[in-house]
Amino acid sequence: MKSIDDLEVRGRRVLVRVDFNVPMQKDEQGDPTVADDTRIVQALPTIERLRARGARLILVSHLGRPEGRPEADLSLAPVAERLRELTGWSLTLSPEVVGERSRELARGLADGEVLLLENVRFEPGETAGDPDFARALAELADLYVNDAFGAAHRAHASTTGVAALLPSAAGRLLEREVGTLTGILESPERPLVAIVGGAKVADKIGVIDRFLALADAVVIGGAMCFPFLRAQGHAVGASLCDAEEVPHARRLIERSAGVDVGDHPGGHDAHGPARLLLPRDLVIGERLAQDAERRVLDGVEVPDGWMGLDIGPATIERYAREIAGAGTVFWNGPMGAFECKPFAQGTRAIAQAVARAPGVTVVGGGDSAAALARFGLEDAVDHLSTGGGATLELLEGKRLPGVQALEGASVA
Ligand code: ADP
Ligand code: MG
Repeated sequence: MKSIDDLEVRGRRVLVRVDFNVPMQKDEQGDPTVADDTRIVQALPTIERLRARGARLILVSHLGRPEGRPEADLSLAPVAERLRELTGWSLTLSPEVVGERSRELARGLADGEVLLLENVRFEPGETAGDPDFARALAELADLYVNDAFGAAHRAHASTTGVAALLPSAAGRLLEREVGTLTGILESPERPLVAIVGGAKVADKIGVIDRFLALADAVVIGGAMCFPFLRAQGHAVGASLCDAEEVPHARRLIERSAGVDVGDHPGGHDAHGPARLLLPRDLVIGERLAQDAERRVLDGVEVPDGWMGLDIGPATIERYAREIAGAGTVFWNGPMGAFECKPFAQGTRAIAQAVARAPGVTVVGGGDSAAALARFGLEDAVDHLSTGGGATLELLEGKRLPGVQALEGASVA
């Protein structure tokens, strides 16, 4: 991939695909505002660098899933406002994506000025990867930069379509994401410990499978653990557990070097599968609510009518020890329903263990990032991946279309 420093940008219009798909909330008037600006802040190094070199910037992003037509609540206006607050730029938001108004605004840009297009998914051609729409986007600019790692697993007009039409380069964030994640897969400091939790079990089976082949230990928490515990014959009560995932979990157990066999075995067998660590105890609740009755379960047999909502103290202790001994830690997915205080301890303790770990620490996943932020630990990890689905797909070993489109891209 070419980098932005390979492009001659002064006086030229550069279309920059950024990932401003930020979480939103409503203010007192019921108007949408930016709830978390992490993704905006992470896009700034690329934008600042291009501005400093005299580029005329046209930023393009999606927000939410507007299904190909304008939706007032998904306008990028609040994002434009936050960008102005963060940077002090007099940034213009075009009321449309492509069309006469956007062309006029793009033509009127001076060196270092910034134009933000309206939500690119207001156009049906975006997710359809429509070549005509890609051409309309490309016609706004002379050069293309993709810094939207979070959208790199999608073959959309603004990610892959435009890259084929203009001289292209990867932004700083996309470069760093691909470099760090590829590094974990190809040459990690060992032992490599992958911690996988959260609720999207079906989305993460592929990643667990890959880490069983590559890592030294795979540590399971969150609602993710119930298909595994079920496959081992334990009762899961009313816990979140999709019956369809149980056979997948059984297969993963069989593929592992064994469940919780030994502590830090001396030396790593580079060719053997990883050890699998499952919870030994759980925190259960009658409901997922602040005031629900809560119990610490000695073991993992969840009684009828109860839900496993967090990992227990013995599990925390065991997992923290594994993390402390790791050369590289990859963490994706909370250890419990951490948004609800009675069930936040496991996630907090694992977040702290990751933050303290002497090894290289990489965290991926929107909710895992939110958990780190809640505990004030987002700066204590080496790399906080912005990717979500793109991060998981890259780690699974899939080729990301947005990255592929930049590889071998021409540079003018
Ligand atoms: P990420 O976004 O980090 O990839 P996921 O989206 O897979 O993580 O899962 C996060 C969600 O999983 C959180 O909202 C959390 O409340 C929920 N969760 C974790 N453990 C449990 C559990 N035991 N029961 C119910 N929900 C859980
Ligand atoms: Mg999530």
